[in-house]
Amino acid sequence: MRVSRLMLVTLRDDPAEAEIPSHKLLLRAGYIRRVSSGIYAYLPLLWRVLQKVSAVVREELNATGALETLLPQLQPAELWQRSGRWAGYTAGEGIMFHLEDRQGRELGLGPTHEEVITALAGDLLRSYRQLPVNLYQIQTKFRDEIRPRFGLMRGREFIMKDAYSFHASEECLKGTYAAMDQAYRRIFARCGLRAVAVEADSGAIGGSASQEFMVTAEAGEDLILTSADGSYAANQERAVSLAPEAMPLPGGPRAVGAGEALATPGQSSIGELCGAHGFDPTQTVKVLLLLARFEDGAQQPLLIALRGDQQLNDVKLANAVTALCSEEHGTLLDISPLTAEAAAKDGLEPIPFGFLGPHLADGVLDGARSWKQRFLRLADATAAELPAFVCGANSLDTHLVGAGWGEALCSCPQTLDLRAAQPGDRCQHDPSQTLEAARGIEVGHIFQLGRKYSAALEATFTNEAGVDEPLWMGCYGIGVSRLAQAAVEQHHDANGICWPVSIAPFEVIVVPANVADAQQAELAERLYGEIQCAGIEALLDDRGERAGVKFKDADLLGIPWRVVVGRGAADGQVELVERAGGQKRDLAASELLATLQPTIEAARRGLL
Ligand code: ATP
Ligand code: MG
Repeated sequence: MRVSRLMLVTLRDDPAEAEIPSHKLLLRAGYIRRVSSGIYAYLPLLWRVLQKVSAVVREELNATGALETLLPQLQPAELWQRSGRWAGYTAGEGIMFHLEDRQGRELGLGPTHEEVITALAGDLLRSYRQLPVNLYQIQTKFRDEIRPRFGLMRGREFIMKDAYSFHASEECLKGTYAAMDQAYRRIFARCGLRAVAVEADSGAIGGSASQEFMVTAEAGEDLILTSADGSYAANQERAVSLAPEAMPLPGGPRAVGAGEALATPGQSSIGELCGAHGFDPTQTVKVLLLLARFEDGAQQPLLIALRGDQQLNDVKLANAVTALCSEEHGTLLDISPLTAEAAAKDGLEPIPFGFLGPHLADGVLDGARSWKQRFLRLADATAAELPAFVCGANSLDTHLVGAGWGEALCSCPQTLDLRAAQPGDRCQHDPSQTLEAARGIEVGHIFQLGRKYSAALEATFTNEAGVDEPLWMGCYGIGVSRLAQAAVEQHHDANGICWPVSIAPFEVIVVPANVADAQQAELAERLYGEIQCAGIEALLDDRGERAGVKFKDADLLGIPWRVVVGRGAADGQVELVERAGGQKRDLAASELLATLQPTIEAARRGLL
């Protein structure tokens, strides 16, 4: 391809809309253009990258025996109602774009395809003899993300590879899950990515085991926690750890009453309280008030007790609230802080925020109009384990010192793991090790779904004993467009992108320094032709620009090898420059192919 025909528009400066290096570079180098928030045009150069990524994905999945298919993006609401996900995906913070057709029937634009494929599988797969089956597709997905950002990283329209497997037994599902794990590792390695597998939360999709693949990069939205020996790695959403030991409270639990009242004027935060009185945060219990909203309209106030030094893990809390309430109230739509303003609006008497204790009575909810008038009370284990602690007295400017769980204060509520594991915490599997933090970009996610969807959508098969049972399912996603940008995040320098050869839009760029020089132009044309004949993907920068401009663009574009045809052309000499690392060497034009070909062939397979 000739650069003059490429519709190439490069930008010298960083566009204001981009924050992270990969987003800036893809815009500057003319790979993508923003059409609207979270909606991008993939320009021809990026389309080549996406096709290469897709080809690697196809090769590796086909090798596992998976079958490629293509499912509709318009999905009837009815299927999502049967799985119980319509409300969660369309109301509250739901991310499904949805619409009505001319007959008034509701449809959603596919954010994912469990419903559609499970209904099909229920129709087509009748007997254990047809199993297992693994189907995949590479397709545009739609998600009305709350915060679309970072270009292709979090788009509202993006390309995903999604696969769904069906099995007659859980063991068989585990076998395919393990094979997909291996295929994913090969896919990411071949695309030139350094990716780590981490334990993940199963989130809205449901099911049991799940693992994410994270490309480690500063700009990653996810925090991952790993042990130094590498035997434990988890997304912080899901990570477990041992909390630091609590410092015993001098004097222990007070003999009578619920603790001694202590005047704490204006000391409404743990920091202020501890600063003023010399307490350690591990000696305190803090109380958070939140409000959970459900599909059936129920609004449940939550009272959460945590040790003062700990942070709440929102994902663990949402999972706990779902487990406790969804049978009665349907899908959990969201959890938000219960604020003084919201409380007043709903008709409550003022609540002494900043001075709350776990014994806050349900009576404070008496005036509530739309909320339940009883708290759902939960405690994190770190708070539940304290024999004596400092907590708010439920009256302004007062705390209790030496309070303890029991009749005098209140009994300890249901105890769960609700705290966020932190870097520096001791590991559960080996307390001599601590957790280290890294940032990651989630490029893939594999799940053992079990029978959640097949049971809901009545997708059954007849087993060997002649009995009908729901299919066992797994699902497996890769963010193809996110992966392409993640590759740029890991492979760039101050001058631009340095594509891994396996997914580069072109492998070589031939740059005549001066196209007006007949010898240079002719040699460049000849080499360009020879390189292509050898099956190497080449660009020819045939523009009449100055050499410096063309070199800058070549660096920005990130084509792995640049062949410069300059003054040496007269003697049959060219310069070969490797983009990553910038290594240069002069060689005879006649030796060019013999030098390039073996290197490129090895690099194409991802053997960098
Ligand atoms: P995230 O936690 O980043 O929102 P997710 O858990 O919703 O992702 P999945 O439903 O597991 O994602 O989707 C499979 C893959 O699709 C993800 O691993 C990710 O690589 C990609 N992906 C998800 N959402 C987006 C998006 N908005 N833009 C681009 N890629 C995405
Ligand atoms: Mg995920």
